[in-house]
Amino acid sequence: MKVLVFNPQLCDGCRICEETCSQTWFKETNAEKSAIRISPLEDQPGRYQATVCNQCGECIDICPTLALTRDRHGIVRVNKKRCTGCLSCVGFCPILAMYIPPDYVVPFKCVACGECVKACPTGALAIEDLPKAPLTETEKRMKVVAL
Ligand code: SF4
Repeated sequence: MKVLVFNPQLCDGCRICEETCSQTWFKETNAEKSAIRISPLEDQPGRYQATVCNQCGECIDICPTLALTRDRHGIVRVNKKRCTGCLSCVGFCPILAMYIPPDYVVPFKCVACGECVKACPTGALAIEDLPKAPLTETEKRMKVVAL
């Protein structure tokens, strides 16, 4: 499955990735509308960490309306038509990588589009093809229903 991975050794904290993400998906430069968030490491001056979805899929089981599913690349996607904006996934995400912008009801997350990878001037970001995550309980049930 496709996953955006971050190399903290190479990041210089320029935040071009955040700008690129919000421009790509919301047509504005706004860090609150970026699916990748860069923050300084308090105990290591000059070093940064990134918060971004790792496509673990644990949110799929939390959504009461089945609005979260995996596509064929293993990327967890939000179905805007099914989402009721309950924000269960935003509160539940184990790494806090599901976001809700201030002026929007539907949450958003990284879908590994790769635009930030192209924009990062230091090569700190990459899209990697990792082994598929195990099926969640919801995915197992949906598979049985589809048989
Ligand atoms: S664009 Fe690259 S170097 Fe700049 S903050 Fe993002 S990951 Fe770090």
